[in-house]
Amino acid sequence: MSENLLDFDVQRLTAWFASMGEKPFRARQILRWVHKVGEPDFAAMTDIAALLREKLQQQAYVAAPQVMRDEISADGTRKWLLDVGTGNAVETVFIPEAGRGTLCVSTQAGCALNCSFCSTGKQGFNRNLSVAEIIGQLWWANRQIGKDFDGKWPVTNVVMMGMGEPLLNFDNTVSALRLMLDDNAYGLSRRRVTLSTSGIVPAMDRLREECPVALAVSLHASNDSLRDVLVPINQKYPLRVLLAACQRYLERAPRDFVTFEYVMLEGVNDSVQQAHELVALVRDVPCKFNLIPFNPFPQTHYRRSKADVIARFRDVLMQADIVTTIRKTRGDDIAAACGQLAGQVQDKTKRTHRLLEIRT
Ligand code: SAH
Ligand code: SF4
Repeated sequence: MSENLLDFDVQRLTAWFASMGEKPFRARQILRWVHKVGEPDFAAMTDIAALLREKLQQQAYVAAPQVMRDEISADGTRKWLLDVGTGNAVETVFIPEAGRGTLCVSTQAGCALNCSFCSTGKQGFNRNLSVAEIIGQLWWANRQIGKDFDGKWPVTNVVMMGMGEPLLNFDNTVSALRLMLDDNAYGLSRRRVTLSTSGIVPAMDRLREECPVALAVSLHASNDSLRDVLVPINQKYPLRVLLAACQRYLERAPRDFVTFEYVMLEGVNDSVQQAHELVALVRDVPCKFNLIPFNPFPQTHYRRSKADVIARFRDVLMQADIVTTIRKTRGDDIAAACGQLAGQVQDKTKRTHRLLEIRT
């Protein structure tokens, strides 16, 4: 069987090399060629013995998902639609800013959690992405844009904020995270890799133990009755339980705060009273807030809060000494902004099923 080497983190690659009777340093060498250099062709790996190169050519390959569409926004944001087979496609977004480049990575084809304001959620769920499909997004984006004049890859920061709930594809997400952090692969610091979750509490505890990267939590509401509606997984892991998990996470986190994401929905969660309720709610959790102006998509009944309402909400948090930023909307002309990623998803779950899963 031929193996896609993008599927292997350093541990698995070492084990695979051992099974072929090869030494562990060979695995690190190959990892450097594939990820650091970005070379998919074994024949070009000049410091690898010819015999091993031949063996690799027979038993392995390096391939990211095929690109179906490549769009560039007026603000420089770039979005790729990647074919992951059987009628499914996921999206990856590159956001260039002065001095850094952020890649927004997808972890699932669709999402089963069905948050009421999220385009991905509305698509339903098909399947988890493999390690190759997750890390392949970074591998692909770097190679597409190319190294800068200092020989550095353009992606300096990764946010696991594309399609899907990363913590419901735990093992593959963690393998991909480990590659992002590995000095023989991308060598990103744990502060530059952020995972966003809607709050899968047991998996947050596992992540803290296995690969604590920077954490963002999608809060979106200041009390359980509203959050139950906006983020239905709240019915399983309510706010009190979620906030306790955030506190536990901070014991190992690379930053000393959690970033709470809060989508601004007009007339739903954007009142001054709700801002005060929020301040009281997060009192015991060192945190920053990132307010996300709602990004509309077809068939949604929600509207984006007005700019002055968002500013007023921010001011209440700031007055309580909570650092609060308003996320700049990027790439909305190509539907690449937060929550607009839809890709193509062949839904496999009936909505009623999904709700049952969440409740049990
Ligand atoms: N599933 C994870 C990560 C992907 S979504 C999560 O929910 O955290 C990344 C962020 O975009 C989340 O905070 C999500 O709630 C937010 N989001 C979803 N739909 C949105 C929309 N239409 N407008 C603005 N933000 C949205
Ligand atoms: Fe899934 Fe996140 Fe969208 Fe909710 S906001 S449906 S968890 S991708």
